[in-house]
Amino acid sequence: MKISTKNSLLFNLTSILLIISCMFITTPPKTSAKASTKTPDHDLPQYFSSSSPLNTIIKFNNHSSSSPQNKYLLPTFGTDCSVWSRACSEEILKIATKPENVKWIKSLRRKIHENPELAFEEHDTSKLIRKELDELEVSYRFPLAKTGIRAVIGTGQPPFVAIRADMDALPIQEAVEWEHKSRNAGKMHACGHDAHVAMLVGAARILKARQRHLKGTVILLFQPAEEAGNGAKRMIGDGALEDVEAIFAMHITHLLPTSVIGSRSGPLLAGCGFFKAVITGGQGRDAVLAASAAVISLQGIVSRESNPLDSQVVSVTFLNSGDDLDVIPNRVEFGGTLRAFSNTNFHQLLKRIEEVIVAQAKVYQCWGTVDFFRNADTMYPPMVNDNNMYEHMKKSTVDLVGPTNFQVVQPVMGAEDFSFYSEVIPAAFFYIGIKNETLGSVHSPHSPHFMIDEDALPVGAATHAAIAERYLHDRDISIS
Ligand SMILES: [Zn+2]
Ligand SMILES: [Zn+2]
Repeated sequence: MKISTKNSLLFNLTSILLIISCMFITTPPKTSAKASTKTPDHDLPQYFSSSSPLNTIIKFNNHSSSSPQNKYLLPTFGTDCSVWSRACSEEILKIATKPENVKWIKSLRRKIHENPELAFEEHDTSKLIRKELDELEVSYRFPLAKTGIRAVIGTGQPPFVAIRADMDALPIQEAVEWEHKSRNAGKMHACGHDAHVAMLVGAARILKARQRHLKGTVILLFQPAEEAGNGAKRMIGDGALEDVEAIFAMHITHLLPTSVIGSRSGPLLAGCGFFKAVITGGQGRDAVLAASAAVISLQGIVSRESNPLDSQVVSVTFLNSGDDLDVIPNRVEFGGTLRAFSNTNFHQLLKRIEEVIVAQAKVYQCWGTVDFFRNADTMYPPMVNDNNMYEHMKKSTVDLVGPTNFQVVQPVMGAEDFSFYSEVIPAAFFYIGIKNETLGSVHSPHSPHFMIDEDALPVGAATHAAIAERYLHDRDISIS
């Protein structure tokens, strides 16, 4: 995820402070889950104890228990999920929270964290994922977009629904001292993509165990180069979305408590682009004056032309005319970034930035040009959640973790290349909290101090699996 430069609309902190994360995972019930159509007298799956104290974090008990014969497939569960009931969500959560699965998913994430790889260099990460998929006997296509993987679980027949994780790390030196600190100097999983991969492989494990319930096909996309290089665009070009009719993705956030899920319908993340202008003068024409007028006029685009209730940003972040104190330079360069929450506004910003710079240069008898780096993979469309996909995600999540563990969040000015998928098919993007003040997982992504509360991992895996399985289920109902 690209971090915003300024003017961020942060989550509504007041509402976040009011979040009540009041559940401990308790010992799994001794009786096996049975199909139930009656409305439970509490609003949480039975793994969550509503009597637990407020504001505590969901925790998992790591003590070992006897492993089933086949470690990936559960002992028989009686629930018939042809009619969806809470018992189906409970079974998904129960697989995810089995002590051996919790231990495994944390250990997978740690392996990836120790060996961070930058955009399109995720060779070891990709190999590790394929090894896990091989063990699960999950088939996949490789490579897409150089290191990407398209795994398949289910009937192989329509409908097809996709869930996606990004695999790349950042060029940051990790400052967190812990046993599984990055072993690659200057590289770090500082945006949680290690956790995203672990949660998607975790979902593969759950979905494989529940294969007989799948009423269609789940596609799991492991994507390279989210942070740089538009990996999503390359994945689409290599056929990642073939036959797929809907897609979901999750990102960790330090703004929500551990395992709390958050999202919203409509605009969630901004479209993002960059520009660089060159103004040339010469022969008594002052390029510095022209550039200064252009920079000031650019501020008017957002403050005077855009709808104040529809946030946009144009920021000039550099200006360079050399360092000669004695001569008026005949060339000035400046540039910056632009953000908007709709494609219409984004393209209007592109148009107006160019018009303003070229026209202001002309006022001072100079010549202005603007480059938006259109071919350099630096432009991201806005992430706008499809309302139906958002409602499906919310319904599946609330059923899984309970309504108090779901939050509607505000849009932020960050950007995310998942938006490329959302331009092709209906999509929903959502967050999972990793904030735990006791652990210290409170730093923003892209900080060298960034860390996560790994207790979110099993919940994230279960959330992915529940959303995908239930999508196929509900789609089946709507067709029949
Ligand atoms: Zn990021
Ligand atoms: Zn990210």
